[in-house]
Amino acid sequence: MTDTDTLSIAKRREAVLAELSDAASPAPQLVAVTKTQPDAAIDEILATGQRVFGENRVQEAEARWSGRRSAYPDLELHLIGPLQTNKAEIAVRLFDVIETLDRPKLADALAKAMEKVGRALPVLIQVNTGEEPQKAGVAPHELQQLLQYARDKGLDVQGLMCIPPVDEPAGPHFALLAKLAKEAGLSVLSMGMSSDYATAARFGSTHVRVGSALFGPRDYP
Ligand SMILES: *Cc1c(COP(=O)(O)O)cnc(C)c1O
Repeated sequence: MTDTDTLSIAKRREAVLAELSDAASPAPQLVAVTKTQPDAAIDEILATGQRVFGENRVQEAEARWSGRRSAYPDLELHLIGPLQTNKAEIAVRLFDVIETLDRPKLADALAKAMEKVGRALPVLIQVNTGEEPQKAGVAPHELQQLLQYARDKGLDVQGLMCIPPVDEPAGPHFALLAKLAKEAGLSVLSMGMSSDYATAARFGSTHVRVGSALFGPRDYP
């Protein structure tokens, strides 16, 4: 057990928000990543006023959030994990931002689902900045093509998202994502997690996705 294990979620959140404000002005939005968290932790962070959340699995997110929607009409839910095309419609009904567009087939499915459901959600394209074979996201050189494709389908692509390789310094990946967004004229940058949110803020992140620094260590990666 480390010292931070004994801190409340509210105290940890305050510390994260303070670090973000020190790192950049305006500070990036804090997206609290609630995957695997028990109800008690969700209620605890909602009580602090946190309203922007990230989940990486559609069904898990539905179980956790669909009932809380009516109690918290100002919730903003971000899908931050890979999306299968057959779950596009559920995702479009549940989430407010889709951060993980990474292939043309998914652009097709999302466009169709948004049309059917009658919700046009902001979308981010996930970029595999480290070009890791096991990781989702388009390679940097494929970005322009997917962006054009998604726009042709009518999707509102507002920015980019990345998850840098775990075994490399994150800074160069954040710099690359910021450069790609600038070149493409995109304003939203979802980058930075528990280990590097302050670094990401200094590289111009607009949204940091933070889990364990708020809730304590998780049981699964
Ligand atoms: C789990 C997860 C996070 C948060 O990770 P922490 O290191 O716990 O902050 C951020 N982004 C994505 C895509 C995740 O799956």
